[in-house]
Order: sequence, then structure tokens, then C-alpha cells
Amino acid sequence: MKIILMGPPGSGKGTQASYIASFAGVNSVSSGDLFRDNLARDTELGRLAKTYMDQGKYVPDNVTIDMVMSWIEAPANKEGFVLDGFPRTLMQAEALDDRLSELGGVDKVILFNVPEVELVKRLSGRILCRKCQMPFHKEFSPPKNDGECDKCGGELFQRDDDTEVVVRKRLKVYTEETDPVVDWYRKTTNIVEIDGSQEIRDVEASLNEALR
Ligand SMILES: [Zn+2]
Repeated sequence: MKIILMGPPGSGKGTQASYIASFAGVNSVSSGDLFRDNLARDTELGRLAKTYMDQGKYVPDNVTIDMVMSWIEAPANKEGFVLDGFPRTLMQAEALDDRLSELGGVDKVILFNVPEVELVKRLSGRILCRKCQMPFHKEFSPPKNDGECDKCGGELFQRDDDTEVVVRKRLKVYTEETDPVVDWYRKTTNIVEIDGSQEIRDVEASLNEALR
């Protein structure tokens, strides 16, 4: 099974990646994992990516694609894998398809759908302890005392990245980038849409159905 997972930040896609991977008996990887791994092992691709990151520039698609392909071509991943959040742009999707043609292409694309209002609620409710970094959520896992860390009593604050304005902007960028990818997979591959706003047990049941 060669599976691609797509879904906006906050859709729970990352959490489900390992569930799907163990269900399908394959490994999963995100592009973040690959960057960290290549940097840690100081590979040629890792050093190349770092030259862009050090200048505050985006790592070009071809570098990311090479990292993904060298992971896929490892003996443990050749027969099947879960890619979490890659490809993210149409160019990446086309390049991946091209490079995968020898391996038989992608079997399934799983798309997590969550209404924007729910994503904003999930992502903009995150707060952190200033002292010990313990995470809370205003709605889903609030601290016992308002504005105070349960663990160390430190002050809770919201990162700039998690404010509603920034969250909405991130979601907009995500949609603009990935809508063409979704359209393209609709035409070329077997795409399954999962309602990511359900309870986790129901999400897993939908996934079992999709993976059968
Ligand atoms: Zn704390």
C-alpha cells in the first residue's frame, strides 16, 4: 500500500499517520521528519537544505522531492509507505508521480476534511506555560486555574503563531497550495475523503473502511 495523507493543520492527520501505517504494516514519514533526519545525519541533501534555511528561504521542491525519494527507495519502504503531508504543491505531486511510476504509482490518497471554523477553534485555543512549556487548550484541556500552569504554577501564554489571525492566514495558504493537488489526485488516483471532525473512534472506523 502506497498511501498519501492530506489534510490541513489541525485536522488530526499527523496523529492518524502512525495508526494507518501500523494498520497497513508500512512506515510513515512527514517532510519535517525527513528534514530533521537529513540534518542530523549531515547528508548532502541535508546540507543543501540548510543553506536555504540559513538564508530564511524555502527549501526548493526538488531538494524535498529528492529527500522523499531517497526514503522511499530504501528497501524497508519500497513496497509500501505512508507520506504524511507530502506532496504539498502541484509541482511536488507531479514530480512524485513521475518518480514513482516505476514502483507502480500511488495506491490511495486519504484526505482529511475538517470545517474551517473547527480548525480555527482547535488551533487558536492552544496555550503554553512560559516556565515549563506544558501545553494546554482553552477549550479541550483547560488549566485548573485560569492563566496558570497546573504543573508548575507558571504563567500561560499564547504563541503568536496560534492567534486566530495567524491561524486563518496559515489555513488560507494551505488551501491555496493544496487545492490544485487535490483536484489533480481526483483525476489521477483513488482518493478517499475522511470526516476529520468526528470522534477519534469514528475517524479510525472510517479509516479501516477506506483501507480495506
Ligand atoms: Zn508550567
